[in-house]
Amino acid sequence: MKIFKDKHTLQKEILKTKGISFVPTMGGLHKGHISLIKKSKKSQFKTLVSIFVNPTQFNEKSDYRSYPRSIKTDLKKLKRLKINYLYIPSFKDIYGFKPKEKVFLDKFSKKLCGRFRRGHFEGVLNVVNRFLEIIKPKYIFLGKKDYQQLYLIKKHIEKRKIKSKIIECKTIRENNGVALSTRNSNLDENQMKIASNVYYYLRNFKKKIKKNYNFFNLNKIKKDLKGLGVSKIDYLENYNTKNFKKIKRQSKKFNLFIAYYIKKVRLIDNI
Ligand code: AMP
Repeated sequence: MKIFKDKHTLQKEILKTKGISFVPTMGGLHKGHISLIKKSKKSQFKTLVSIFVNPTQFNEKSDYRSYPRSIKTDLKKLKRLKINYLYIPSFKDIYGFKPKEKVFLDKFSKKLCGRFRRGHFEGVLNVVNRFLEIIKPKYIFLGKKDYQQLYLIKKHIEKRKIKSKIIECKTIRENNGVALSTRNSNLDENQMKIASNVYYYLRNFKKKIKKNYNFFNLNKIKKDLKGLGVSKIDYLENYNTKNFKKIKRQSKKFNLFIAYYIKKVRLIDNI
């Protein structure tokens, strides 16, 4: 595994290879990240993982500062996985140049997390646009756990005619149903149990409204979730996952999108 901290040295190395499979991360690596990396390793190209906690996508400085970091264990995990390249850029390496492409921000960025985290998707698209320009990957591996992010990156790539293909990767969950997330390390045992109960509640609820949409009573669900120990719900909405249209009638192809808090920890999922 070759480690790079500077984009020019990285480019010298990778632009001579026949292509790159790229897995962007913010570190704090868990089984979700690892599944993306394993999938990338099965491609015909060399695997490049990046670790960069991108400050511009955090809407609160304190959240950026307290975001869980574990670079030493991350390095061990990546070595064991035998990836080809690791890119750990500084802020200046990423933000110290003017990208050729302008960020395209689809209007769906105003929904769901966009309503509650001002500037979040602008920050995500800004950093991804820069990574795409530096690395020019053939493939970019993204998790469906962050479905809105994945969708917006897809729209940017389409609009700007960028030649990277997105590989959508399924959400990896703990045995108790909770989606793996770097932020889960901030949950204690009891809070993890609450998150697990929320998952099972929503899964059953989805089954129910697939059978009969009349069960879709947001106020009741929100009340039930609070009863399970949820402190606050930013949103709970159902969308068709292909075109992000709201579901109005009986439909089979939708996911429930949720962002909620257990005490101070904000979790997102789509089920
Ligand atoms: P992050 O480090 O949180 O920015 O995530 C890096 C990539 O891993 C993103 O494409 C995420 O969608 C993906 N990811 C995070 N958690 C999971 C998970 N539980 N299952 C699958 N992919 C995930």
